[in-house]
Amino acid sequence: MTFQRPTCTCNDAWHQRRRKVKLHHEKQDEESDAWKRLLDLINDAAVRNVEEWTPGSLMPPEEWHSIVTLPRQIGTLKSVRKLCLYGSSLVRIPPEIGEMTALQEFDPYTSYRLHWLPYEITRCPNLTESRISTRALYGNFKNRNPFPDLRHESDFLNSIRPKKCSVCNSPFDDTYTTRWISLNIATDVVPLLVFACSVSCIDSLPIPPDNYVLKPHRGGRSIEQPPRR
Ligand SMILES: [Zn+2]
Repeated sequence: MTFQRPTCTCNDAWHQRRRKVKLHHEKQDEESDAWKRLLDLINDAAVRNVEEWTPGSLMPPEEWHSIVTLPRQIGTLKSVRKLCLYGSSLVRIPPEIGEMTALQEFDPYTSYRLHWLPYEITRCPNLTESRISTRALYGNFKNRNPFPDLRHESDFLNSIRPKKCSVCNSPFDDTYTTRWISLNIATDVVPLLVFACSVSCIDSLPIPPDNYVLKPHRGGRSIEQPPRR
């Protein structure tokens, strides 16, 4: 029996017409054997100073496809230059990817449920290559997939928020605010989720490339995107 990976209806015309565009809320089972194996694999890769890491090739397929996010410990992978997540079932990547200081190539190709990345990926100083299934991304120029409205996601966002501001890296006190912004990441334009401590951090974000929403925003149907290309 072959294993069928989970599918995604977010970008179906029906769901978009019905305005059901929401973030994936799938919760990671952190008690599972798969999660524990993945933590061991990260530890092993960190100890061995691995330069290319392909976790999906190191786990049984059914375990790999039960992984919806990566552990925060990926930040310990200081030697990994190429991160291969081909064909994963990931729905989000933790902000700690920004601590992978050697990362040059990010390859989550055909991870069709991965619609956005954390803003912290902009901290990877050596990241120059990416291979992303861009049609799955919010706001991509080919289909202009709508961005989920962050104002309707506060409980979920609270459950995944980092401990520090995505922009200035200061620890949060009680309050934070969230925005979408589309920016060039290596060879693709990618929608990034920002958790910011202040309006001044939002104001300091870079200007998005032409042909994308030109400022940070909260998503939702009221956001006007440029026409498809
Ligand atoms: Zn800040």
